[in-house]
Amino acid sequence: MSDTEIAIVGCGPKGLYALDSLCEAARRSPQHCFTVHIFEPSAHPGAGPIYDPHQPEVLLMNFPAGLINAWTGGRGPSFLEWALRSPKPVDAGDYVPRAHVGRYLFWSFERVVAQAPSNVRLIRHKTRVDAVTRNGDRWHISPQNIPVDHVLITTGHQDGFRQSATETRDHIPSPFPIDRRLTQTAVPPNSTVRCKGFALTFIDTMLALTEGRGGVFTLSATGYTYTSSGQEPRRIAPFSRSGRPMRAKVEAALFTQPKDDAFWDERRAELSHILRAPNATFTHHIWPAFLSFSDQVLGNPSGTSADFFTHRTKTTFTADEIRQDLRIGYDIAMGRRAQDSAWALAEVWRRCYPQLINWISHREIAPDDALHFRQIAAEMERLAFGPPAQNIGKLITLEQGGIVSFDHMSGEAAADVTINATILPAGGAELAAPLDGLLRDEHLSIGTLGGVRVDKNAHAVTRDGIAKGLSIIGRATEGCVLGNDTLSRSLHDLPENWAAAVVQNARQSNALEPSV
Ligand SMILES: Cc1cc2nc3c(=O)[nH]c(=O)nc-3n(C[C@H](O)[C@H](O)[C@H](O)COP(=O)(O)OP(=O)(O)OC[C@H]3O[C@@H](n4cnc5c(N)ncnc54)[C@H](O)[C@@H]3O)c2cc1C
Repeated sequence: MSDTEIAIVGCGPKGLYALDSLCEAARRSPQHCFTVHIFEPSAHPGAGPIYDPHQPEVLLMNFPAGLINAWTGGRGPSFLEWALRSPKPVDAGDYVPRAHVGRYLFWSFERVVAQAPSNVRLIRHKTRVDAVTRNGDRWHISPQNIPVDHVLITTGHQDGFRQSATETRDHIPSPFPIDRRLTQTAVPPNSTVRCKGFALTFIDTMLALTEGRGGVFTLSATGYTYTSSGQEPRRIAPFSRSGRPMRAKVEAALFTQPKDDAFWDERRAELSHILRAPNATFTHHIWPAFLSFSDQVLGNPSGTSADFFTHRTKTTFTADEIRQDLRIGYDIAMGRRAQDSAWALAEVWRRCYPQLINWISHREIAPDDALHFRQIAAEMERLAFGPPAQNIGKLITLEQGGIVSFDHMSGEAAADVTINATILPAGGAELAAPLDGLLRDEHLSIGTLGGVRVDKNAHAVTRDGIAKGLSIIGRATEGCVLGNDTLSRSLHDLPENWAAAVVQNARQSNALEPSV
């Protein structure tokens, strides 16, 4: 019986989940042998650059530690269980440094490797793959030109850090990696800085240039105070088209939910009923239900959330509106103020997200419905998936102290340095190698919501069917698969499905091989 040769291209969290799933599926099929080539240029597979264990500790997760688990079925420790051994205790509601999570992910990778079943041979290549090409029945992985039967591409943010972009004295193409890009030579103390973007990457940049340079935030009953280190820029001015800020995530220990689980179970049951209808659309059925749920959470008159959302999305925020919105979101998150429609809509979005993922993923929805969904999802990203409250508290403090300025949102103000604090769009819009070449060679296609099309086993869908042996999981498929640019292992089962299909395929191929 011949080995099945597999390549996993990119081994961040999704590559790790796929590798683990493959080992599990292969363990249940001991008579078949698998050779897995893992291509990952970074020093810490499993973590990759986003969870690099050596990045500054001021860069935090945007979801609480209690939700982090790289393992399924209790086969390994959750992040909280693993962190019990670290000197600093971690609570379920803590927003921990991404570096800390990176240490857990790298440890998990090494555990998967150490516990791989004897019918799985792992070969690591510390290489960036620049092309994947088809030759007969097999895929060739370059630069080494290694032939394989199956290739899974999990390159995530690909070149999201714009590593090849030109860096000039006054322009920094990405703040990441922070320790290389935001040095005191590149962004001198007392300089003026413009930041393109006003979302999570801006907040990372702001913290790296302040707290990351020795400034100290102190929390008291009235909020944070900031003691300067003298190493930070004189002014950090974000700019963005809408000016609309992200809303803070709530501090679970301080916050009281207005409705109990029974309320949400009923809403989810109602949504399931809506989603089962064969003619359901996002625009006419799902979104109106979300708006209505949002009014019900707060006991508001029908139409309150719809009016709020329409007004918000039509408004370019002034500096005063930004201040006010950040303050409202922060006070709600800290349990000091009654929830508003922004919070209620975000809560509906988060609570119903798994159902929305199931409904919309792999579905070709009508172009106008797709456009409407994309516009709403972009705004809901700001409302539902924002930073931890502490980071919004720090932003408010730095703005009050004059280090951050909201007065240059149009981006026209002059500055010593401009930092591009945006992340390249997800989906098929800006594919890097090796995905760009595969698209050019028509082994991939793009769906109406903008993502690389895959089926439920992560197999690439071309215009003519399935590209045999080619699979993609992660950010490039965003749109075809909703919300998979996350650390969560429980929201999607593509790694498990992909692994099961590879092992099943090996069984079928071996059954067809002539016996000697
Ligand atoms: C700054 C930042 C902060 C984030 N914070 C959070 C958070 O708090 N919570 C959350 O849920 N999500 C967060 N995310 C989303 C994050 O993308 C996911 O959590 C997760 O990293 C997705 O995993 P992935 O494996 O799909 O992609 P990635 O983590 O991007 O991993 C892809 C891997 O592929 C490798 N690679 C890329 N190109 C090639 C190539 N050509 N050849 C070989 N290897 C290649 C990379 O080195 C990398 O290791 C954040 C994203 C960013 C950018």
